[in-house]
Amino acid sequence: MLGERFLYDAKPVISLDERQIEARNRVIREQEDPNGHYPFESFCCECGAGEEAFDVLAEKDRYGLKSRTVICRKCGLVMTNPRMTQEGYDYFYDKEYGKLYRDHDAPDEMYFTKRALKGKQIYDYIKTNSEKPVSSVLEIGCAAGGILYYFHVMGCKVTGVDLGSEYIRFGQEKGLNLRQCHSRELVKEGKKFDLIIINHVLEHFLNIGEELEVVKELLSQDGICYIEVPGIKYLTKSYYMDFLIYLQNAHIYHFTLETLEQVMNKYGFELLTGDDMVRSLFRYTGNQTEKGKNYFLDVMSFLYALENYREKAIQKKKSEDNKTE
Ligand SMILES: [Zn+2]
Repeated sequence: MLGERFLYDAKPVISLDERQIEARNRVIREQEDPNGHYPFESFCCECGAGEEAFDVLAEKDRYGLKSRTVICRKCGLVMTNPRMTQEGYDYFYDKEYGKLYRDHDAPDEMYFTKRALKGKQIYDYIKTNSEKPVSSVLEIGCAAGGILYYFHVMGCKVTGVDLGSEYIRFGQEKGLNLRQCHSRELVKEGKKFDLIIINHVLEHFLNIGEELEVVKELLSQDGICYIEVPGIKYLTKSYYMDFLIYLQNAHIYHFTLETLEQVMNKYGFELLTGDDMVRSLFRYTGNQTEKGKNYFLDVMSFLYALENYREKAIQKKKSEDNKTE
């Protein structure tokens, strides 16, 4: 455990509005009910190690939900393990995710514009880091397609897939080619794309290998894949420098650039460029390399240093407050 505050006590560490509290309490009730919608399951690490190789980092997430975060001592990958089953997540995304995580009930113009500006950032990142021309773009988990909208405006042929019907409809009304389906449907149709965007989605996947198999099939020759996930090492600049605020039960994997690269290598993807944020570009080579590097100490020393820094900052603030009183 990273510290006592990471023990399960059902208390949130961020302020929640009424709607969030109601959703959270429903999830807790369901999680505690053996016949509820959220049964849990354990799973092996991507390196093959099981429970005996896991150290527990936390027992709860930022909402105070029961969610055990572990790190694998054999490779350093951080996971939510056990996780809910696929059926559990399907129910959770359908009923509670939006209420708990989003500050809006349905997509609106403001939300869409913000996503389009995010699209510009991704577009610029790719322009800076890759010389390959991009004409066709697929986004997996596109929501209302705001990110794709920017690529569309810049002249790319865009396609988006997502399971949220309301979001898909919103983007379709903007003239975007969005579809309410899983990306594997596109494989059956023989579709290929120069660029596949997976933005804050990979960390939600239950089976990374299966999903990447689909990505591989959908990439054109020389195609590239943009992957963005919330990076652990970027906590120096995000989530109030607090690993507990960063933790959320919908994230099954918690990556650093290094652990992401190692997992991608396992499935035949090669890192072209990336940073701690994590923003990254990969290409498929088919060389399934398992370097077997262990990032356990690298990740643990970062998390301990972060926790230590946070504690000191709180103490300093307390003593300053005392002086002004
Ligand atoms: Zn492992």
